[in-house]
Amino acid sequence: MSADDPEGDDFVPLSALNALLYCDRRAALRHLDGLYVHNEHTRRGDSLHARADRPGFERRKGVRTERGLWVASRRLRLYGRADLVEFRRDPGPRRRGEPVAETAYPVEYKRGKARRWDNDDVQLCAQAFCLEEMLGRPVPAGAVYHAQSKARREVPFTPELRAETTAAIDRLHALLASDRVPPPVLKPRCRGCSLRGHCLPEAFANPRRIAALSRALFSASLAQTDPIPEARARRSKSHGRPARPSDDPAAHSQET
Ligand code: SF4
Repeated sequence: MSADDPEGDDFVPLSALNALLYCDRRAALRHLDGLYVHNEHTRRGDSLHARADRPGFERRKGVRTERGLWVASRRLRLYGRADLVEFRRDPGPRRRGEPVAETAYPVEYKRGKARRWDNDDVQLCAQAFCLEEMLGRPVPAGAVYHAQSKARREVPFTPELRAETTAAIDRLHALLASDRVPPPVLKPRCRGCSLRGHCLPEAFANPRRIAALSRALFSASLAQTDPIPEARARRSKSHGRPARPSDDPAAHSQET
């Protein structure tokens, strides 16, 4: 994280945190190499968000709701769009002329059934950090709305979740500043990852297979592109006479 560049371009999107906790390599491929590939899961997620975070505003008794609200933290170099933020009027009496005191309550929409995923909770907590900095007020809790179960799961922003989120933000900045894509690590989550066809974790997770593929690839390309050492050897055997095609076993193998 850089604190000496207050308007710089090292702000990172909140969604990158979710990607990082899914897989470091996925976050780097997406946010360093700009690689984004859709699969069934990402299409469904995008279509849910297209509906959920359409900008809008509504008010009901004691609650003002903003949809598709942009949030940012200069301190943490983060920005993103919250699907929905409820501003709940604080209970208790208010003196005449006093502004209404409200507490923000972010809600993030996710596909699937109600179930705790670290990456969803960290992304939501990072939204809370942004709102706290923007509003100058604590944000004690939020919720993840699970579309398949049509249920909200409340997420209190405990000291443990805040520490986990801060560590993830630091790790994300370090990863993106390093400008390096980590190697693939084959894991159960690879099965649902839209980048699997580009990442090839099965091939690269096996060092013996990589060695065999490298040998096959580079010995074949060397035989095709670097005939000079063999040609030199043949010239010296034939006392400077240029080699005839029939002297060159590599030439035969290329013709067949
Ligand atoms: S396929 Fe696996 S290792 Fe590769 S980016 Fe996806 S989750 Fe990460």
